[in-house]
Amino acid sequence: MADVVVEKQTTNESQQEQQKTTEIKHSEVGHKSLLQSDALYQYILETSVYPREPEPMKELRDITAKHPWNLMTTSADEGQFLSMLLKLINAKNTMEIGVYTGYSLLATALALPEDGKILAMDINKENYELGLPVIQKAGVAHKIDFREGPALPVLDVMVEDPKNHGSFDFVFVDADKDNYWNYHKRLIDLVKIGGVIGYDNTLWNGSVVAPPDAPMRKYVRYYRDFVLEFNKSIAADPRVEICQLPVGDGVTLCRRIS
Ligand code: SAM
Ligand code: CA
Repeated sequence: MADVVVEKQTTNESQQEQQKTTEIKHSEVGHKSLLQSDALYQYILETSVYPREPEPMKELRDITAKHPWNLMTTSADEGQFLSMLLKLINAKNTMEIGVYTGYSLLATALALPEDGKILAMDINKENYELGLPVIQKAGVAHKIDFREGPALPVLDVMVEDPKNHGSFDFVFVDADKDNYWNYHKRLIDLVKIGGVIGYDNTLWNGSVVAPPDAPMRKYVRYYRDFVLEFNKSIAADPRVEICQLPVGDGVTLCRRIS
């Protein structure tokens, strides 16, 4: 009998303990954790990410945290992931669609060799200019060719010139989700065979598995169907191998194979 009581007490204590642990909120701005607890995500940040985060990226993260749209930023762990990936594939000529204040752009610029290049596009230059002084101070601004305006027409012009075909080692797509498939149709020619395209936010706040009548923020609901459709289409595209990772808000890596 006493044993049962003790066991019950222990179970209650461990449940309370677990509840306490899961209630610890992580501090990363803009991250929608897909891990089983925020405490686990915070553990990753504090153990492996923040101690190795380059100083300029930390500075840019702090600046971005004060901006009203900070939810849009790439998280520090995803920045670290991108940096590792770019180095693993020896990327040199790259593209980014959707810059915001430039956290993923800076991660890319720092990871590329001295003569590396990033064609960076965003309809909003003001936000890019918030981060630009940090990028300049870090000594990597010479790698960036920033173009203000919608990305699709720029891609259309590039696709017309065969010289651009197969010229990119890596592309990071992190902009208007309703255009992801339109981007893909053009990027598949611009990235080299063996090159990688990363499509960001492909788990879209977890809404990809939410019932259609679940409460959702307006913008989440609006783009949800596009993300669902894109995920289905990319999984069926024989020109690429894919890998959808639960990093950040979900990132789908596509390696061009034909
Ligand atoms: N990669 C960024 C970072 O690390 O902080 C986050 C990008 S944010 C999620 C999306 C960006 O896409 C916004 O800055 C927005 O202005 C830009 N955008 C939206 N529509 C666009 C378009 N048609 N062409 C280019 N950029 C666009
Ligand atoms: Ca994103």
